[in-house]
Formats: sequence, C-alpha cells, structure tokens
Amino acid sequence: MKKRTIAVIGGGASGLAAAITAAQCGAMVTVYERGERVGRKLLATGNGRCNLSNRQVSTDFYHGHQPDFVQPALAQYSVTETLSFFEQLGIMTVEGEDGKLYPRSWQAGTVLDALRLACDHWGVVTRCGCEITAITPTKRGFMLKSTTDQWQAERVIVACGGAAAADLGGTDSGYRLLQRLGHHCSAICPAIVQLKTDTLVTKALNGIKTNALVSLYQGEQVIRQIYGEVLFADYGLSGPPILSLSSLAVRLLGQALYISLDLFPETTSAELYQLLQNRRNLLGWLTLEDFISGMVNKRLGQTAIKSAGLTPLSRRGESLTNDELTQLTAALKDWRFAIKDTRGLKQAQVTAGGILTKDFDSRSLSSKIVNGLYACGEVLDIDGECGGYNLQWAWSSGRLAGRCAALDKAE
Ligand SMILES: Cc1cc2nc3c(=O)[nH]c(=O)nc-3n(C[C@H](O)[C@H](O)[C@H](O)COP(=O)(O)OP(=O)(O)OC[C@H]3O[C@@H](n4cnc5c(N)ncnc54)[C@H](O)[C@@H]3O)c2cc1C
Repeated sequence: MKKRTIAVIGGGASGLAAAITAAQCGAMVTVYERGERVGRKLLATGNGRCNLSNRQVSTDFYHGHQPDFVQPALAQYSVTETLSFFEQLGIMTVEGEDGKLYPRSWQAGTVLDALRLACDHWGVVTRCGCEITAITPTKRGFMLKSTTDQWQAERVIVACGGAAAADLGGTDSGYRLLQRLGHHCSAICPAIVQLKTDTLVTKALNGIKTNALVSLYQGEQVIRQIYGEVLFADYGLSGPPILSLSSLAVRLLGQALYISLDLFPETTSAELYQLLQNRRNLLGWLTLEDFISGMVNKRLGQTAIKSAGLTPLSRRGESLTNDELTQLTAALKDWRFAIKDTRGLKQAQVTAGGILTKDFDSRSLSSKIVNGLYACGEVLDIDGECGGYNLQWAWSSGRLAGRCAALDKAE
C-alpha cells in the first residue's frame, strides 16, 4: 500500500516527536528545518540538562486564550506515556525538585541524539537549512515552497515554534505561514523571562543569589507566591521563582505590579523582630555594616539595612531604636521591587500568545480552516509555566498531531 506523505515544518521538540510518531504509524515523513541542524533550542533547555517534563502536569500550568485546549493531548500522551516513549528511545529519566523530570544523563544532548537516531531508524528524512516560506493547499494535499525548491505532501504539520529566543532559532515564521492560510494569531509577548524592576538595589547586588519566598503583587493583592533562588541583576530580578512568576506578570504589565521578597519565610515578622532585638542586645557592638552578616549574604544585608533607611552603616547596632528594628524587619520580610517590564522576547524562553487554538480541533490538532493541516507546540497560543511544562506540551501535542496526520481519513 502506498504510504501517506507527511511534511513536518520545524525540527524542534514538537516536530521531532510528531515525525517519529507519524513514521511509527506508517507514514513517509520529511522534516523541514530552517536551521543548520535540528533541535538547537532543545540543547539549551534546562541549562543544558533538559527539564523534559514534570510529574505535576495538569491544565493549571498552561496559559493562553483557551488553556483547556491542552487537555486531550495531555490525556492521550500523559507524563507516564512520555517517559515510556523516551525509555523506548533509550532515555532513562530522574526526578528533581518540584516534580521536574530530566534525562538520567543530565544532558539535553542525549535527548536530542535519541530523537535524531529514532528519526533515522523510522526512516524520517530531514532537510536542514530549508526554510518553508509558503504552504499552498492543492487537490492532492499541499505544495511547500522554500526560496529555492518546492515539495508535495498529503499532510502538513506546522511545528515552527514561537518567536522567543531568536538566537536559538525562535522565529515568527510559523505564525505567518498559518495566518496566510486564514488562521488567526493573538498578540505575542515574552514569557518565562527575567523581570526589569527599579534597579537602585538590584544593580548594587548584581550577581548575588539568595533564597526567598517571592510574592507577585498586583496593587496590594498577592497573586502568587513561589519559594526559590532569586538572582539580583543590573536590569532587575531573575532566578527560577522570578521566571515562573513572569508568565503571570507579563499578562498584567501596565498595572501596579511588585515583587516582594521574604528573606526569612521560616519566621513570622514578630519572631524576626525578636531575633533582631536579641541581636541588638548581644551584638550591639557590631556596626550596621556587619549587624546582620551571618543571617544573610553580607552585601545583601548591608543593602537591606540601607533600603530600610538605617544609615550610616558605621553606626553601632546598639543605637537602633525599636522603630528602626521594625523597619528592618519589614525590609527583610517584604522587600519590594516595582516591575517595569520584561527583558523581551530575545531573552525569553517561551512566547505567550500565538495562533489561536479556536482554529484547531483539540482532539486531533487538525485545522478547522484547512483540511489536512495540523499544528503543534509553541506556535499555538499555549504557554506553560517554568518547570518542564513547555516541553511536555511539545511532546504531547507533537505526538498527537503526528498520529492523527498519519491515520486520519482522507476527505
Ligand atoms: C533557553 C531555553 C531554555 C528552555 N528550557 C526549557 C526546559 O528546561 N523545559 C521546558 O519544558 N521548556 C524549556 N524551554 C522551552 C522549550 O524549549 C520550547 O517550549 C519548546 O522547544 C517548543 O518546541 P517547538 O517544537 O514548538 O519549537 P522549537 O523547539 O522552537 O522548534 C521549532 C523549530 O522550527 C524551525 N522552524 C521555524 N520556522 C520554520 C520554517 N518556516 N521552516 C523550517 N523550519 C522552521 C526552527 O528553526 C526550530 O528548530 C526553554 C526554552 C529556552 C529558549
């Protein structure tokens, strides 16, 4: 029997998963990749360690105009199923903190190798250095064009990813291809991205990391809290909890938004105040320069004291009044940074927004506008939170699109 021909546009996480699955279902698959090699972004994931999924995956961790759109794909290609898919490709996995899943090798390169080798094994043809610039529906399927060539395919899967991280291959090409075929695209913005804040303090602390309970405030209302390691930088704040909260923050930019750092989440304000009082009694001979060194990073402590308005640092601890200890307690428990902006798409890990999911069937990822056309991964208006949720969406959506494109009934 003649094999169905499928073109996968984009050799990233979702495209490779789609290609392998479609080939396993008996299709003849070609992956078109504009980069010199497939999976460039994948190599950079999880700081080179590839946080490929998360035990806690559920629709709650996804954003977009219709976050529930992810449900059928995640149900059919669940975390357990994904781990068994990778196991069949030779990848063992381990669980890190907060349910994050990694390859046991702790190397993103081994995940990419496994996907590449599986493509070879299942007969997937890969054309690198080949940017698809137009998709035209024809009587027998589709005509695909690059600037130099053209190809036919019976089914097309658009897996072009989002516009974030252009240095790693991010592009708006997928949005343009799908829009030209009548699909709708929402405004896009960066997600999982460092936050620009007022920089007086963060500049002084550039490069310093500290654990804190991080709260995102909209006005005086706490929207979400995450504990983790915060990085101070000359532009503002970074680190895992900041990147996680950024996906919510970007959607509220323009409103009064703050990050609050609690450097002592294990104590109440009253307990911390008591602790500082004891310190004043026992160690009052220390100057403010060293007064809370040993409780927090020294430079961080000095800056917190200054931002509590306690100067000069040459003062002795014993000179601190009770009111000043209250001010210091507040600075250490609720250190506020006004959010001004994000560092933009170039620095972001993920794109929020994209091709509207209302134009696609969530059970098959087929287009409701163009027969025989599918889309998966980040090109769609779905973004997951930090912690392996985006790659899980890439695997689940890629595999669903791959299977459905290979097995759907011809119309
Ligand atoms: C630095 C960084 C770290 C990250 N870490 C994690 C992590 O640890 N865990 C996690 O879950 N997520 C992580 N992500 C997010 C995750 O990598 C993406 O969400 C995921 O790769 C999206 O998969 P995709 O297949 O949709 O797109 P991509 O992986 O971006 O692949 C799209 C591919 O399509 C190609 N392409 C685009 N247009 C065309 C065209 N017209 N013709 C041919 N080819 C085309 C591109 O060159 C690209 O190779 C990270 C992202 C970055 C930038």
